[in-house]
Amino acid sequence: MARVRLENITKRYEDVTAVDDVSMEIEDGEFVTFVGPSGCGKSTTMEAVAGLTQPTEGRVYIGEDDVTNLAPKDRGVAMVFQNIALFPHMNVYDNISFGLRLRKYDDEEVRRRVEQAADVVQLEGMLERMPDELSGGQRQRVAIARSIVRNPDVFLMDEPLANLDAKLRVHMRTELQRLHRELGTTVIYVTHDQAEAMTMSNRIAVLNEGRLQQIDPPLTCYNEPANLFVAGFIGSPSMNFVEGELVEGGLETTNFTVDLDSTSVPGVTVGDTVTLGIRPEDVHLSQEADSLASVTAPIDARTDVLEPMGDEIFVYLLLSEAAAGSMEEDPSTSPDQLLMSVTPDTDIEAEQDVEVVLDRSKIHLFETATGDALVHGVTDLSERGSGPTPTEADS
Ligand code: ADP
Repeated sequence: MARVRLENITKRYEDVTAVDDVSMEIEDGEFVTFVGPSGCGKSTTMEAVAGLTQPTEGRVYIGEDDVTNLAPKDRGVAMVFQNIALFPHMNVYDNISFGLRLRKYDDEEVRRRVEQAADVVQLEGMLERMPDELSGGQRQRVAIARSIVRNPDVFLMDEPLANLDAKLRVHMRTELQRLHRELGTTVIYVTHDQAEAMTMSNRIAVLNEGRLQQIDPPLTCYNEPANLFVAGFIGSPSMNFVEGELVEGGLETTNFTVDLDSTSVPGVTVGDTVTLGIRPEDVHLSQEADSLASVTAPIDARTDVLEPMGDEIFVYLLLSEAAAGSMEEDPSTSPDQLLMSVTPDTDIEAEQDVEVVLDRSKIHLFETATGDALVHGVTDLSERGSGPTPTEADS
């Protein structure tokens, strides 16, 4: 086991900067996932840890050692890839033990390690099988067992579940979590699938265009995204974004205003463009928002398309004066939209006029120009003077 430290890693190819000044520290025994859209630099960053890529700038440390110039085999890492390459003519036992036999471990030690690894990935009783007698998931487990027997300090996994069908992927997710719990080894995991990242990791490192956007526990990235990119990438369906202008006493968007003390939003001033973010589950029908401590004034909307998911219904809302019927007067107006998620027993249908509110404690504000988060929750930013009236006892 070992901690991993990346110090200002940059990787440039001729005309692409694949990784741009990435620094992070991964604790001993931690499960950290690199997540982000295709091409954001996840694999290149992991390859820098593995030693498969030489960074243009920066240092890589594993444990206390600077491994930047070490060969992959001398770094104490084991990799599991998306494309599992098992030797087709060898049975499971020989596939798992291949590396150990190459390193001339004695037979007794080889058997002990293989049986232990097979036990961890639940392949007991299958050691005599040939690869073509295994399912996709079982083959992936052989590949993982082959890494386990090497007793690595760090596991590096690059989209190891990408080729499996959806059901098996979910199953392997829980298996990998159990494996991590049992072995306690540091894991760096690469995926473009934010659900995988959210469910398995101690922390997730969100990358975009080669730059580290945020590294935090999954729920922190969900509840307190550092910027617009993280807010939009983490969570499915995605957070709603509505642009507005900070005015005296509030945030004004085309279709609604959120009352707040604009002077107390840090980093911006009246007149600045600010983007409001709200997740679908934090948009509520007015009549069902009684239990919420603090909500916005009602917003007129018209329901468009409904998507019943079984455990919830996604409701696409058209804001704007659509609700007042002025859409026909000016068809060029593109109404702002909001996605709302409601419980399946909600009495709602398409093309219905409704009033919705936003949970003020769940409103995020971002500086539109930079994308940086300004505040998460505007409950404490109540408009000046609209708070509790001072009583005589206060004065
Ligand atoms: P991800 O794993 O997030 O999909 P990668 O780390 O594979 O992204 O790639 C990051 C960027 O670097 C991409 O734009 C990719 O095209 C580029 N890249 C990766 N490897 C090479 C290479 N060997 N030569 C040139 N460009 C590369």
